[in-house]
Amino acid sequence: MSFSTLGLSQPLLKAVKETGYTKPTPIQAQAIALIIQKRDLLAAAQTGTGKTAGFTLPILELLSQSNPDMNKYQIRALVLTPTRELAIQVHESVKTYGKYLPCRTAVIYGGVGINPQFAAIRKGVDIVIATPGRLLDIAGQKGIDFSKLECLILDEADRMLDMGFINDIKRLMKLMPKERQTLLFSATFSPEIKKLASSLLKDPAVVEVARENSTGEQIAQVVHFVDKHRKRELLSELIKTKKWEQVLVFTRTKHGANRLTKQLEESGIKAAAIHGNKSQGARTKALASFKAKEIQVLVATDIAARGIDIDQLPHVVNFELPNVPEDYVHRIGRTGRAGNVGEAVSLVCVDELDLLANIEKLIKKTIKKVDIPAFAPDPNIKAEPIQKGRAQQSKRGQNQSRSRSNRSDKKEDSDSKEGKRGNSRNRNRKSNRGERA
Ligand code: AMP
Repeated sequence: MSFSTLGLSQPLLKAVKETGYTKPTPIQAQAIALIIQKRDLLAAAQTGTGKTAGFTLPILELLSQSNPDMNKYQIRALVLTPTRELAIQVHESVKTYGKYLPCRTAVIYGGVGINPQFAAIRKGVDIVIATPGRLLDIAGQKGIDFSKLECLILDEADRMLDMGFINDIKRLMKLMPKERQTLLFSATFSPEIKKLASSLLKDPAVVEVARENSTGEQIAQVVHFVDKHRKRELLSELIKTKKWEQVLVFTRTKHGANRLTKQLEESGIKAAAIHGNKSQGARTKALASFKAKEIQVLVATDIAARGIDIDQLPHVVNFELPNVPEDYVHRIGRTGRAGNVGEAVSLVCVDELDLLANIEKLIKKTIKKVDIPAFAPDPNIKAEPIQKGRAQQSKRGQNQSRSRSNRSDKKEDSDSKEGKRGNSRNRNRKSNRGERA
């Protein structure tokens, strides 16, 4: 199959060709034609499957087919994303694919000044990509008008629910016209997602390109057992001996990310951290340096890393396993993207054996264990509970563990002042501090 059979017009085909894509990915092959037919869509697509182009291309196509009269606050399409990083990346994609169309776009997220965002919308835009909190602030101040909205897209909807955006989404929905096309993309089809989908979508087409919670076959997964206090040393060793040039490393906490970054730098490895305590400027800079290969290691917490898209990222390391097994799938989905081969290495200490068992249960496979004799764990070291009793949480059944751990992760990984979205006055005060991520 080629892109030219999917109903896309020349300006879009030309832009796609310039990106170097030769054929649509499975999600694109299925979703693009359905969206052009104006169907609502519920799509389960793993990260890295090409889902962004899967919705961006047909939306650009549909918008280019008409030219309605709009006032300066009205927009035609809205993409909601859970994090600023993802919003920025989707915006980049829209600009890339829409470069030969007269479509105007704006990106809206917290953590930066709100006034330029009001001004951007006032200039007149067709597509807005936004995180929910900041968009509500702007809508609350009548800075945006959804009355002519033709299409709403929820990207990484599972993550939006995990991050507690459900009430923001509900509030936003009240401002949207009932007659609209709605697309919902999610890595998994959990019962919560199905409930959200049934409240938002009308007779949706359902597209599922990967098994629920499966991990891509193109990702080689391996576990090295190692004592907790020797993980840093092993990581440095792996980076140096295997000559890894670009590696994304996950820690459980912001503090852990900072500490590891410092230690790596001290051992001569260029590293930067990205997490919810970093300013938007610092995060953007770290990500840009990593993409440009100016730094070798990006150390990230789960929420901050969500949505990071780096072409052909070869290595992901779980310095610590996540408390929530689904986060493992999200983490390793940063590598092995769009058909490239990737490697996901997990450094597992005795405290984390239950977490590992939960992950293997979720992904329905046993991850290969490779011993590194020089780092063989000391059998006398006994398992200790993972801090803040999270090990306990992970034992309490998947769903319960998931919601609780996420809550504690969110607290851990976000500006605590933003932990709860209260009334709009609070939200306004918070707006300059940014989204949770
Ligand atoms: P996404 O799942 O939207 O985050 O996309 C993951 C990666 O796949 C991005 O780096 C895209 O540039 C890339 N990509 C998207 N569509 C294609 C395609 N048809 N062929 C090759 N790469 C693609």
